[in-house]
Amino acid sequence: MESETTIRLADRARGISTSPTMAIDARAKQMTREGIHVISFGVGEPDFDTPVTIKEAAIAALNKGFTKYTSVAGIEDLKQAIVDKLKTDNDLEYSTGQIVVSNGAKHSLYNLFQVMVNPGEEVIVPAPYWVSYVEMIKLAGGVPCVIRTWEENDFKLTPADLEKNINPRTKLLILNSPSNPTGSVYTRRELEALGEVLVRYRLPVISDEIYEKLLYDGQKHVSLATLSPELKELVILVNGVSKSYAMTGWRIGYLAAPVPIAQAVADLQSHSASNPNSFAQWGALEALRGSQEPAKEMVAHFATRREYILERLQGLEGITCRRPGGAFYVFPNVSIAFGKRYRDELIQDAADLAKVLLTYGRIAVVPGVAFGVEGYLRLSYATNRKNIEEGINRFAVVWNELKA
Ligand SMILES: *Cc1c(COP(=O)(O)O)cnc(C)c1O
Repeated sequence: MESETTIRLADRARGISTSPTMAIDARAKQMTREGIHVISFGVGEPDFDTPVTIKEAAIAALNKGFTKYTSVAGIEDLKQAIVDKLKTDNDLEYSTGQIVVSNGAKHSLYNLFQVMVNPGEEVIVPAPYWVSYVEMIKLAGGVPCVIRTWEENDFKLTPADLEKNINPRTKLLILNSPSNPTGSVYTRRELEALGEVLVRYRLPVISDEIYEKLLYDGQKHVSLATLSPELKELVILVNGVSKSYAMTGWRIGYLAAPVPIAQAVADLQSHSASNPNSFAQWGALEALRGSQEPAKEMVAHFATRREYILERLQGLEGITCRRPGGAFYVFPNVSIAFGKRYRDELIQDAADLAKVLLTYGRIAVVPGVAFGVEGYLRLSYATNRKNIEEGINRFAVVWNELKA
């Protein structure tokens, strides 16, 4: 009940959905407080510490007095390092005027929807999607146009489905490869086919490449903007240091875009967050310019864990789990459990299963509905081998006790 003195929130704020993972998360924390040892497959960040050279660069910056406001779009050295990185890693030519550094890639994305989407305009979002996209689009007054993708097609958007969903209100597509939550990686040919549709309709696309470096089986990242000059004009590339360099708490992300977009984002940011943290920018600079060995080592660890968790999950009867090409998530299909019981509890969907796994198995996993699809769980393997081993053992105990 709202009393007269209750402060009424703006409709904008009232429309924000709380994350479906929150209930699981709150329960897991409660169990931990009660002294129950819960193993979490829920985390969306590397478990490694930030490489020491990066920390030292930030400490040195602090000691040198880089503690003041910087240029809103980031210090020139960092923007230049990003330009150089885009050239070396991705074979892309940008100028520093096309780069805006923000408080994480999430902030870059938020800014982009704010400057690009008018109320009522549609943004095409392939599902399973990263949950924040949909909320950010709504906060901009936009309408998410969610397109379901399918396990049989490795959860990838097809050019036909893209084209079918383009209408006069369509403003943007958002594409995330490698993907959170599925780990899917679009091949060059698949990107070319989507790019052809985008160019034909002159439809801009945000390319979220935050998991670029987390690729397995010898794959090479293909950046969407490299495919043709016409396409590059339509691409807004988003990336950051969080996932590649174990720097999630530092909050440094960036975008590369045609100048008018970059300028609009910088203007918006000048009236909201101003510059990203001054000394964190020096840490990010070291991440991009310094040795890439620590980052490569992390990927090697992820690769080994991925093999292990896949093998274990695929060993559970009735579970199918595709081999993800990138990121640090597996996305098993658990729909065979629906309609079964664990003791007295009927499992009707993945959220029910996640609840049973937490309560009786003491493991935290995220149901796929959090990402817009039913029938799946997301397990992050950004946790050590011992946890994975014990966690899947616990999963197996619950799984094998499910009764029709
Ligand atoms: C983690 C993540 C981001 C944002 O990362 P930041 O820490 O804000 O740089 C963006 N997109 C996806 C898909 C992510 O998983």
